[in-house]
Amino acid sequence: MNLLKVDKLVTRLRNGAAIVDGISFEISAGETFALLGESGCGKSMTALSLMRLLPDGVANAGGAVQLDGAALFDLPEHDMREVRGGKMAMIFQEPGLSLNPVMSVGAQIAEVLALHHDLGDAVANARCVELLDQVGIPDAARRVHEYPFQLSGGMKQRVMIAMALAGSPTLLIADEPTTALDVTIQAQVLRLLRDTQDKLGMAMLLITHDLGVVAENAHRVGVMYAGQIVEQATREQLFAKPLHPYTQKLFAALPDARRSGQPLSAIPGSVPPLGSIPQGCRFAPRCDKAWSLCREQTPDWTMVEGRGVRCHLYQDTGYRIRDTDARSPLPLAGEGLGERGDFLNPVSRIPNPLLQVSDLQVHFPIRKGLLQHVVGQVKAVDGVSLAIPQGRTLALVGESGCGKTTLAKALLRLLPATAGSVQFDGKELIGTGAARSSMQMVFQDPYASLNPKMRVAEILEEGMSALRIGADSAARQAQIDGLLDKVGLARDSKWRYPHEFSGGQRQRIAIARALAVSPQLLICDEPTSALDVSVQAQILNLLKELQQELELSYLFITHNLAVVEYLAHEVCVMYLGRIV
Ligand code: SF4
Repeated sequence: MNLLKVDKLVTRLRNGAAIVDGISFEISAGETFALLGESGCGKSMTALSLMRLLPDGVANAGGAVQLDGAALFDLPEHDMREVRGGKMAMIFQEPGLSLNPVMSVGAQIAEVLALHHDLGDAVANARCVELLDQVGIPDAARRVHEYPFQLSGGMKQRVMIAMALAGSPTLLIADEPTTALDVTIQAQVLRLLRDTQDKLGMAMLLITHDLGVVAENAHRVGVMYAGQIVEQATREQLFAKPLHPYTQKLFAALPDARRSGQPLSAIPGSVPPLGSIPQGCRFAPRCDKAWSLCREQTPDWTMVEGRGVRCHLYQDTGYRIRDTDARSPLPLAGEGLGERGDFLNPVSRIPNPLLQVSDLQVHFPIRKGLLQHVVGQVKAVDGVSLAIPQGRTLALVGESGCGKTTLAKALLRLLPATAGSVQFDGKELIGTGAARSSMQMVFQDPYASLNPKMRVAEILEEGMSALRIGADSAARQAQIDGLLDKVGLARDSKWRYPHEFSGGQRQRIAIARALAVSPQLLICDEPTSALDVSVQAQILNLLKELQQELELSYLFITHNLAVVEYLAHEVCVMYLGRIV
């Protein structure tokens, strides 16, 4: 029996534009339904509509939601408060922002218990410890008194799950629950959610842009685009043969070794902004199968082989999609690797490498006591040797905290090395004043890495004038135009501020900034992990094109093995400060 039934849900902006437009789906007890799609498709708005927690200027404007037989939109706010955090709980993407920093985790869980269960203090405290224990927090009796800043990202997300479970929910809404976590912690948190669901028989609405998360966790999937569900299928049906052109494009944009010689097929353009939806099919401006009917008439929901899809290709127009249009199966792990027989040993045996790192160490002293005596060392980087030739990509793989970013910073001399040698183009960098402009860095978060108060032209010119590149400002502006052409941005975008761009465009600006000083090596620190799969494909294509055109070398820090297979020539795996 369906626990949650969403029927033709409509959510509108104050100006009347629908940002969630007539979506319907159902979830049974013990089932996981995933809403999949790029950022800005309306997935999170759907979740907030169900919770009746919409931001100012947005309102539920139609449709019905039933949870366990109760019509949620008819409940008075007082009763709805009982449902929120009780029968229906939600966990968010960024646990660091969702927890109260000035309350211990135990006090925050106790707050939920007090709201939804009538327990005495002693019983509530015992229940807090039990919940933390249930979500796999070691030494729960001690940790219950700790504050969020004392916990790692994965621990904080476990605390969020414990808080959600405190109200004994029948439906858990998880909005990108693992996007902010690194890959091993992500796997642990997803397993915890699956185990908890099996134990308690909860229904789960999982919101994600990650096909890997869907593959491992969902029973059924709704693919969302521009406020509508465009395809709904079981996980098996979707992965065997996606029907909607948008779903097919999402699969095709995934990097893998089989496509390492060719550009990834990125989805052109972007999701139409909320409130300016094109006439006809909403995907038509980005769809390579579109024809005149698609631009004139909105496609209806059609049932095909026991699943639903919204596309004219499947309506009675006499056209049926060919099997070859669907995604061919992804290769097995390791398949295709043999094609590139020119693997080089990354460690110190390459003749004349561009970058040669030998036995690099970065240690941080641990100080204690009133006089701050050094009582030990944290060996963040502990004897790393590697080499990168010109025009090649070395991927550095490893989980958070293994020393990858510290190594990158030491190479750029943003952190002092304790010992070892870094030679760039034959010149020693450690302990000398040699310039490091030939090495530049591209960061993970394109939102945080650009100064919001500077226009793009100023951002790009800053490094050039510091290093006296270009005769005068006019010459530098001409170079900036060339850089924008190179990274695929319009020239007039140099007069705009970073907040006016999408995530993918900002990452292009960050790459242009790195290229502005004509480097030979780019250190890319998880440059695509904050981006949607289609935007990730565009950025990976751009990096590959730039490498071919400019003979750039890359040190590519990532935890995404599909990206490694697609982009890297050599791979180093780092663990606890060492290359293993
Ligand atoms: Fe593409 Fe037309 Fe189908 Fe829309 S209706 S997805 S434009 S083929």
